[in-house]
Amino acid sequence: MNQNAPLFPNPPSIGVTRRLAAIGECMIEIGGNGKGGLQQGMAGDTYNTIVYLARLLGSSRWRVHYVTAMGEDPFSERMLHQWQLEGIRCELVARIPDKNPGLYYIHLNESGERSFTYWRNDSAARQCFEHPGADATLKELESFDLIYISGISLAILPETSRIKLLATLDKMRAKGGKVVFDNNYRPNLWSSVDEAKRVYNQFLAKCDIALLTLEDEQLLFNSPSAEHVLVRCASLGIDEIVIKRGAEPCLVRFDHGVLSIPAEPVTKVVDTTAAGDSFSGAYLAARLHGKSPRLAAKWGHKLASTVIQHRGGILARKYMPDMLTLGEATN
Ligand code: ADP
Repeated sequence: MNQNAPLFPNPPSIGVTRRLAAIGECMIEIGGNGKGGLQQGMAGDTYNTIVYLARLLGSSRWRVHYVTAMGEDPFSERMLHQWQLEGIRCELVARIPDKNPGLYYIHLNESGERSFTYWRNDSAARQCFEHPGADATLKELESFDLIYISGISLAILPETSRIKLLATLDKMRAKGGKVVFDNNYRPNLWSSVDEAKRVYNQFLAKCDIALLTLEDEQLLFNSPSAEHVLVRCASLGIDEIVIKRGAEPCLVRFDHGVLSIPAEPVTKVVDTTAAGDSFSGAYLAARLHGKSPRLAAKWGHKLASTVIQHRGGILARKYMPDMLTLGEATN
């Protein structure tokens, strides 16, 4: 197995930047503040991933864009400001005057278990490729180097948008661009399991790297084992397949071989929010820095294991682990 094959074999010429875009939805998050009041945050799977991507790509040649739609309300305004502070580019964020961001509330029961109530069915993000400027955005995306989407991105987009996006992915890939897909299957967002399966298969067939949580694969496709998922996805032509399995080692299928990379031991899990999202952000950042799939999986485990030892999905910057201590030599 050629373990070191970089995702983009030819480095860009001096002064040339590369662009990646995550497509999805970031919502307003409301929850208790522990003192009888409320506190506001924001979250969404693709947002969590792109924050970590932006942090870990830092001053590299990569420009990290978020492609979504927001309203023109003060919430939207503040969220965009925060994204920019994280180094995320917002030129391709549409602003839709009569729509607002989705919102969810986190309930915490007496034993500390979380449950969620959502108001997202009419959110701005669903119109991301349906507003008057959408065709220009899709055109722009054709010349991107990488597009990151998740199962949740696909669930919230209307069918007309999915069709446009599939065509964009084809054009982008024809120019050498890569598509990365994270399965994140949420049954409530789909009208039926069959619809979800159909759409997943359509997009998996256009993808270069699949970052899959085993539990979600089992829920959607009834997959009997991780090996079964690897075989099914490889038969769709996906070059690089990663299977995330909680505390168990993740599996990486790459160049016809399969690696098993142990997770970091964690004695006290505080909150598993964004475990998979942060893994994906770190894995991808490592690949874009030219690291091997094996080392990228180590980056994924390192960040995810740190995230689950803190409350919330986005770590305060001071807790970001130092990935550079994970050299190729420690493979
Ligand atoms: P998701 O958050 O999508 O359900 P997983 O549960 O598979 O995904 O977790 C994603 C990653 O988070 C794992 O590959 C691992 O790196 C890390 N992780 C999750 N749970 C644990 C755990 N109990 N101990 C150590 N690492 C964990």
